[in-house]
Amino acid sequence: MTGYGQPWRVTMKDTDLYSRILGLSDPWFVADVELDTAGGRVDVHVDHAAGVRWRCPTCGRELACRDHAEPRVWRHLDTCQFKTFLHARVPRVECPEHGVPSGQGALGRGQGTLHHAHGALDH
Ligand SMILES: [Zn+2]
Repeated sequence: MTGYGQPWRVTMKDTDLYSRILGLSDPWFVADVELDTAGGRVDVHVDHAAGVRWRCPTCGRELACRDHAEPRVWRHLDTCQFKTFLHARVPRVECPEHGVPSGQGALGRGQGTLHHAHGALDH
């Protein structure tokens, strides 16, 4: 068993599969999947497309991504009997009126998608 117990990088096709399993949609996509067969866990790294504009959570103005909040990890429902963890860096915007929102940052256009995903994760 080659690589047993080692993190195993899946192919592009599998990241598409995980994207579908997690219910992600534009602009979020699965960038990387690490499968730890020995540990019975899978770590899914989610990223967003470049150049996407995000909304200020206060006024809804569309703004360019300024930087990213610290990467966060959410526990997802298990997939294929593996403990599944979702990793994402939430983009932050700088609104001329409201500045950089504190807390978890602006999820903007992808809000429904990622919120939907972590609604399923936390409970
Ligand atoms: Zn604003």
